[in-house]
Amino acid sequence: KTILVTGGSGFVAAEVLNAFLTRGYNVRTTVRNEASANKIKKSHSKYINQLSFAIVKDIQIPGGHDEAVKGVDGVIHTASPFVLQVEDNEPYLLKPAITGTTEVLASVQKYAPNVKRVVITSSFASIVDNSQGLRPGYIYSEKDWNPTTYEEAAKKETSGSVSYCASKTFAEKAAFEFVEKNKPNFAITTLCPPMVYGPSGSVITSLDHLNTSSAEIYRLMNGSSKEVPDTAVWGFVDVRDLGEAHARAFESPEAAGQRYQASSSGYSYQQVCDIIRKDFPEKKDLVPEGTPNAPLPDVYKLDNSKIKTELGMVFKPLEPIIHDMVAQFIEIEKAT
Ligand code: NDP
Repeated sequence: KTILVTGGSGFVAAEVLNAFLTRGYNVRTTVRNEASANKIKKSHSKYINQLSFAIVKDIQIPGGHDEAVKGVDGVIHTASPFVLQVEDNEPYLLKPAITGTTEVLASVQKYAPNVKRVVITSSFASIVDNSQGLRPGYIYSEKDWNPTTYEEAAKKETSGSVSYCASKTFAEKAAFEFVEKNKPNFAITTLCPPMVYGPSGSVITSLDHLNTSSAEIYRLMNGSSKEVPDTAVWGFVDVRDLGEAHARAFESPEAAGQRYQASSSGYSYQQVCDIIRKDFPEKKDLVPEGTPNAPLPDVYKLDNSKIKTELGMVFKPLEPIIHDMVAQFIEIEKAT
């Protein structure tokens, strides 16, 4: 069977590719250019015979995925801008996320009759209500939706992070609406992970251009943070676990039409700093000390019971994930 993964060059996609390749699927992945394809060939060289590529220069072009979906048996849509600083929110965040999603679904409906399931990488961003802040005692689950309005998100002066969260919300809603309206031959499953951490399965060419969630961790160990920054999102998941969750969401009949919060547990940047200082004493002076071993403050929690029960997911805890991630950063620092 052949699976199409959109945005194969991404941090999350690298592990989505691995989850399907190790299961024996053939994987075709979309990239924006040849250079990205070459990087994936390098990082996934062990599976080169199962891999193929389709160039889709702009995710939003009507019919842009028509060729890429032909002959595939399933689709995993991960491509979406995850950047928090953009010149303008609507063209750089909202439009590619939303139209990118509906265009992929439209191409599947037209040209991929064998596809019964499309899994979409959504986000906790589409669940959280940022206006509620730390929300002590609240437990977020699949029933929650980020309430930011399109008008608010599209304003130029709205922060990139608020607009990014809204882009994921509207893209996910648009996917469910597409199915409702067009009644295609396939069902969708959406996964909503909070911060995704872990060693990168793709080639990192520069520590100055890391994907957004990896950069969040690297700045805690490269001397640029003097204080422990405010924790941006109080939940995390391992990138390898998230890759596995995509494969399970694809294979599980029960997951049709479902939304899953794909989260390990609560954590804080203080805990991340504690782990780095303990496991990598040579970095100690570059990592803010804060209040070592401070208990987690009273903040919202993320309910992961649905994905554990229905997809049998078991999630790695924070310590080994941060350890593996930092070890990889140190290796790259030494090599460059
Ligand atoms: P990356 O920045 O590493 O990957 C993003 C991917 O999307 C890349 O393949 C990128 O292609 C592609 N992409 C972005 N914008 C466009 C566009 N306009 N047209 C075509 N392709 C585009 O980020 P992640 O791997 O972290 O993110 C992957 C998915 O996971 C996203 O949907 C994101 O919202 C979601 N997610 C990530 C979380 C995290 O903590 N990392 C948390 C929750 C959800 P290119 O390489 O060419 O730029």
